[in-house]
Amino acid sequence: MNYLSARCRSVTPYVAGEQPRGSVFVKLNTNECPYPPSPAVEKVLKDFDAGVLRLYPDPDNAALKDAVAKKYGLKRENVFVGNGSDEVLALCFPTFFDEGDAVAFADVTYTFYKVWAHAFGLVSHVVPVNDELKISAEDYLSLPSKVKGIVICNPNAPTGMPMPRADLINIISSNPDKIVIADEAYCDFAQESMIGYLNDFPNLVIVKTLSKAYALAGARCGFALASPELIAGLNTVKNSFNSYTVNAVTEKLAVAALEDAPYYAAVADKIVRQRETTSDALRELGFEVLPSRTNFIFAGHKKIPASEIYFSLKENGVLVRHFKADRINNFVRITIGTPEQMNVLLDKVKKLLKGKL
Ligand code: PMP
Repeated sequence: MNYLSARCRSVTPYVAGEQPRGSVFVKLNTNECPYPPSPAVEKVLKDFDAGVLRLYPDPDNAALKDAVAKKYGLKRENVFVGNGSDEVLALCFPTFFDEGDAVAFADVTYTFYKVWAHAFGLVSHVVPVNDELKISAEDYLSLPSKVKGIVICNPNAPTGMPMPRADLINIISSNPDKIVIADEAYCDFAQESMIGYLNDFPNLVIVKTLSKAYALAGARCGFALASPELIAGLNTVKNSFNSYTVNAVTEKLAVAALEDAPYYAAVADKIVRQRETTSDALRELGFEVLPSRTNFIFAGHKKIPASEIYFSLKENGVLVRHFKADRINNFVRITIGTPEQMNVLLDKVKKLLKGKL
């Protein structure tokens, strides 16, 4: 007897990046922030009254929604929050699409979109990126009518490359009958958010996270911004699944983080500058480095296969990410760390190129 559903048996789950415990790895594989959260966040954690944990958290997370709304000049009704943006993105699928509907996204993008499409009984309409590995807006302007939604990661992962805002506007305005989900997980390093356009487009859903630029990956907090109607739909689906997705500790930490804009602006600035320094250094060593607007770079070398780079670095204590997928299997994705971490990386890479690692 097989007690598992046919869908469970057929879905191939997403594989998260390695999270080695207690080792000495220079960890550049899951796009975490190399700097700690703001001192205000640390203070909230230190002062947290454990007695509060006796009670369930606010099922509406009103304080957190208000902090998000305030930061982006929106209303609470425009904000949905969840246990990481993965959960927020996942809930978008059953909220906006019915079983059998198709959802369009790129072949080279965040691989979780395909997993969610399958998990929720949808059809993946996969659109190849162009020869430069960029998402081309024109490929999304006359999609088949069975396609009910489009997911665009901007800037894209794992390439790190952004789509010009005008192109994204073109996609959204040319598809008024389809939901367009803009995954802005890495937008804080690119300054090309679509938030200013929310009122213009009733079909736009923007999804953001506190895991990257806000250094809160371990707290799990993400959010969606959209019209009150779309947000109400997300709340309906969430409340048909779990009333308490954002816990009491995370809610307070997230509010403190969102209120400390200057600290995080400085962190993003350091990461962006380090990204450019490291990209230049790798190019000088003969790497092709795609022009990134994120906190990671996607780089490959003609002389050494990316899989070898990945394994050699790992054996020598530096963890980067390698995807075996077509078209990108000769690149490694390297998260931008501190200057010290990037020096270790460059040192190992130089030795590898000399055959001395
Ligand atoms: N979107 C993209 C493009 C990502 O790379 C990630 C991180 N793996 C997420 C969403 C999810 O991040 P989180 O659940 O930590 O908010």
